[in-house]
Amino acid sequence: MDAAERFSRYLATNHLRLTRERRGILEELLQIKGHFDADALLAHFRRRGRPASRATLYRTLARLVDAGLVHKIEMEKGQAQYEVMVGRHHHDHMICIRCGRIVEFESREIERLQTAICRRKGFTMTGHMHQIRGHCSDCAGKERRRA
Ligand SMILES: [Zn+2]
Ligand SMILES: [Zn+2]
Ligand SMILES: [Zn+2]
Repeated sequence: MDAAERFSRYLATNHLRLTRERRGILEELLQIKGHFDADALLAHFRRRGRPASRATLYRTLARLVDAGLVHKIEMEKGQAQYEVMVGRHHHDHMICIRCGRIVEFESREIERLQTAICRRKGFTMTGHMHQIRGHCSDCAGKERRRA
């Protein structure tokens, strides 16, 4: 199942259709690599000469997050960061509360434990986001020196 089909199915369960506008936004989004915020996304669309209103873009982005095609990373300060997960391996994030750096990590052990805990609670997991907040390796030293 490709991204458009997945999005289309999600929209259908919410009584919405994959309009040309939504499909256009999705296709453009799939070109973006790495983490980005909503302003950068709007700038990307303007640069590429893609006409999309801020409201439509942000609304569609929220739908894509809901559909699990895009991950939203809540930041301690500043705007939330987003990341397209289509064609990317699942991973979680460490977020530096000092400089905003995002460190990606993967742990089979954590993934396995999460599944086991859900099973024990009779909870069916459809997805998860694991975020660790703290100081990155660069900032940890600066924090220590300040103290
Ligand atoms: Zn995970
Ligand atoms: Zn940092
Ligand atoms: Zn990431």
